[in-house]
Amino acid sequence: EILFGGKGLVIFPSLLTKILMAGIMFQDITTLLLDPKAFKDTIDLFVERYKGKNISVVAGHDGMEVRRECGFWPWVGDGTSVGISDARALGVEARGFIFGPPIALAIGAKFVPLRKPKKLPGKVISQEYILEYGRDCLEMHVGAVEAGERALVVDDLIATGGTLCAAMDLLERVGAEVVECACVIELPELKGRERLNGKPLYVLVEYY
Ligand code: AMP
Repeated sequence: EILFGGKGLVIFPSLLTKILMAGIMFQDITTLLLDPKAFKDTIDLFVERYKGKNISVVAGHDGMEVRRECGFWPWVGDGTSVGISDARALGVEARGFIFGPPIALAIGAKFVPLRKPKKLPGKVISQEYILEYGRDCLEMHVGAVEAGERALVVDDLIATGGTLCAAMDLLERVGAEVVECACVIELPELKGRERLNGKPLYVLVEYY
């Protein structure tokens, strides 16, 4: 039973699991990681697209953890909060760190972590961004990215697009050119793509 077969990637329901959690339909990519072939195919599709494009920076973030600590999940209409232990059980932290590094290695780019506040040890620049029910912040090491570098922003999923916007803002503030954003999953109904100010977004799977 094929759930989705786009861009050469065949996704079976068991690979991308939906978990209903406190009213949120959570799209869990950890089941995809359990299948080495599916995980490799996913990375290979991104590598195929970005190899030879003169990209020197791949950036990924751990924004989810920020949100968890804010005590809410912003994509829940009624602001329902989820306990920290529930979130940990689902392994929701830092999923931008899962897909970014293997892509970076394969295309010969550096990987730059964009982290929640006070996690990076060196001097940072910060980018706050507004969410429906509060604020988030991403930080990047000063000097990690130089003006004129071509960057790719990678995450597991785009929902409202707020996180990718903040990531792009950070990179552009230091003079980098964001070539594209790449996600495994898009939730088109949340119209995140429209928030990216015309920046191209490449996704492997659209979930309605
Ligand atoms: P957004 O900034 O609204 O586009 O949210 C994107 C970030 O939140 C990504 O890091 C996702 O991992 C996470 N996220 C948002 N909605 C979901 C969802 N329904 N299932 C899984 N992760 C989500």
